[in-house]
Amino acid sequence: MDLFHGLFQLITGADGAMRVTRHVDGPSAVPDPATGRPLRVATVETETRAICPQCEAPGDGGYVSFEADLRLAYACPSCRTLVWLAGA
Ligand SMILES: [Zn+2]
Repeated sequence: MDLFHGLFQLITGADGAMRVTRHVDGPSAVPDPATGRPLRVATVETETRAICPQCEAPGDGGYVSFEADLRLAYACPSCRTLVWLAGA
């Protein structure tokens, strides 16, 4: 299985820490974790300093938002999981 569904890739930064960058050949949709239906990717942001909601590690992760869906997903460079977040 592709890490982060192929949306992001992990690289090692100059400081030796892992960080997430956008995968240039990433997909335009990823499967909904609840239904398996494809969710179209709206925006992808990287180099975002964040605390992972799952493992609580700070890191340079990536966020992805979707069309017609309020959820966000956070790609964590520590636990290497795409963590789904309820939309506002
Ligand atoms: Zn994490």
